[in-house]
Amino acid sequence: MARNQIASAATRQVLPVGMVSTCIGCGCDDLHACPTGCQWLRVDRERGDGVCSQCGNLVEAWDHNARRGKALGAAHG
Ligand SMILES: [Zn+2]
Ligand SMILES: [Zn+2]
Repeated sequence: MARNQIASAATRQVLPVGMVSTCIGCGCDDLHACPTGCQWLRVDRERGDGVCSQCGNLVEAWDHNARRGKALGAAHG
């Protein structure tokens, strides 16, 4: 009858990395959407950021950045 008492002081409500993404424009996130409501136009769960529908003007910049960071190797520019 051995009881594992693992949970001690480290029991906090901290979301694992990558669960919540923050908009690079207005700073809203999965848990705090824009007052008028929004959805992700772009989101990178690995980086934890994105562009919400209230910040559509940033999609272009995001695409530039995302293209630079990943998806290298496309034949066409
Ligand atoms: Zn936004
Ligand atoms: Zn938003």
